[in-house]
Amino acid sequence: MSIKELDKQYIAHTYNRFPVLFTHGKGSILYDDNGKEYIDLGSGIGVSSLGISSDGWIASVTEQLVKLQHTSNLYYTEPCALLAKTLCERTGYKKVFFSNSGAEANECAIKAARKYAAQAKGKDCYTIVTLNNSFHGRTLTTLAATGQPKFHENFQPLTPGFVQATAGSIYELEAISAKYNVAAFMVECIQGEGGIVPLDPEYVSEMFEFAKYHDILTICDEVQTGNGRTGKLYSYMNYGLQPDIITTAKGLAGGLPIGATLLSEKVQDVFEYGDHGSTFGGNPVAAAAALSVVNRLTDDFLQEVRAKSNLLRSLLESCPGIKSVSGLGLMLGLETVRPAGEVVAACMERGVLCLTAKTKVRLLPALNIPEGLLRRAAEIICEVCG
Ligand SMILES: *Cc1c(COP(=O)(O)O)cnc(C)c1O
Repeated sequence: MSIKELDKQYIAHTYNRFPVLFTHGKGSILYDDNGKEYIDLGSGIGVSSLGISSDGWIASVTEQLVKLQHTSNLYYTEPCALLAKTLCERTGYKKVFFSNSGAEANECAIKAARKYAAQAKGKDCYTIVTLNNSFHGRTLTTLAATGQPKFHENFQPLTPGFVQATAGSIYELEAISAKYNVAAFMVECIQGEGGIVPLDPEYVSEMFEFAKYHDILTICDEVQTGNGRTGKLYSYMNYGLQPDIITTAKGLAGGLPIGATLLSEKVQDVFEYGDHGSTFGGNPVAAAAALSVVNRLTDDFLQEVRAKSNLLRSLLESCPGIKSVSGLGLMLGLETVRPAGEVVAACMERGVLCLTAKTKVRLLPALNIPEGLLRRAAEIICEVCG
């Protein structure tokens, strides 16, 4: 049986895969089983943030792997302690909880917000307001948080206590807060799965001001936008605000599973022994991988991400078949004349891997992609877009 047939027979049919089998890669180049070469502008949905088998990353991961791959959270290990310290020092957050995915990082934030609100404002205060068109994960609780009804079908009842608002309307937030006992606002500064839609800075700052006044917690879901993706370490840094809690995952460990929930001073002590846990969370290999990624994301490196963003934007904005470019850093959405799905398929044919998000073509290249590859890929996308 071919790999494709095995996959079809034995793997649950939740994914509609492209008919491509990748075997290996280096940096931002991937190879399929026919030896065809692809420039990767998707990095595994923003996960392989330093590309495939980046030298320093491979050294950190393998060094840890041969020393100790797992201990459980019953014991101390060095990589997770160092990673937590580094994340806190780089952001000003006080405590970190490690998990294994974006959905889990969000679950942790939701638990923290519920407990904080119950203690500060009473047990009836549990509503979490999220935005229409948001995406927060696939568990039943993070689905409830996700403001896209198409993901809710067939899985009712979802976790209660979530209400969605329309981005941009501060009046709606006020109305919801008058009707419900609100514990937290939870947003993506740039909606990723929703089509690379940045939130208006004025709206976000009014939301935070309102939240502060009413002791409502602010949570930023940085699962996709985090770890240098937008040209800052975390996307909230583009907005000049400090959320009470941020969550991240995808690109944090450069290709190994990890999730992290960062707690500010206000909520740092909300969890006590036994309140939360994870068997794999803070795994030493994943933590060593993440430490290697975060240590690469220096100010100079992030400056380069912004420069590459400007280059890619300018190359794409001048394409006749591209109507607009949205996003920040190396998280870009293209509104194309041709349907996005068609563009992605045609680019793949020509050896460039892109993603879609709603009706847009979505680009999430590795943060260290060489400028030459970006130029070549942009040229092909431009030709494909017509
Ligand atoms: C991908 C994503 C998630 C879910 O992450 P998983 O690792 O798939 O659980 C949550 N929020 C945002 C913003 C995402 O982009």
